[in-house]
Amino acid sequence: MRFDRAGVLQVKAPLFMANRQIQDFIEKHKMWIETQQSKRQTSKLDPKKKEHYKKLARESIPPRVADFADRYGFTYNSIKITSAMTRWGSCTSKKNLNFTYRLALAPDFVRDYVIVHELCHLRQMNHSRKFWAEVGRIMPDYKLAEKWLKQNGGSIS
Ligand SMILES: [Zn+2]
Repeated sequence: MRFDRAGVLQVKAPLFMANRQIQDFIEKHKMWIETQQSKRQTSKLDPKKKEHYKKLARESIPPRVADFADRYGFTYNSIKITSAMTRWGSCTSKKNLNFTYRLALAPDFVRDYVIVHELCHLRQMNHSRKFWAEVGRIMPDYKLAEKWLKQNGGSIS
């Protein structure tokens, strides 16, 4: 499985392989595919595209934060969309949440995880067991997102 120069995914498989098996294979490697795709996207962002993604982030992240906050009873002060290159999100002691616009390029489950992670810091300003229990209660699959972040570099605090 590889991406060609135009960024189109190509899958090579033996002739006798059933389509279904190929589909299953792709499904199994979905995370790798998404990771490769967003790497491609962020590595060659021109200023115009950057503005586009910033706009997307400003439109999509605050409502998503509000949704999670409503559903799980979090209260925060403000949300800021930053241009941070390596830090995905952070939370201050004044209950201000910061998210990088680059989340607009990450898969949805990763964006949601970063949001949930920062919201949970409103209750636990650390990475204690209690904190992770809180994250896991809201998002049982959060380790998948952690894995994605590890593969893609950058930090979350
Ligand atoms: Zn954290």
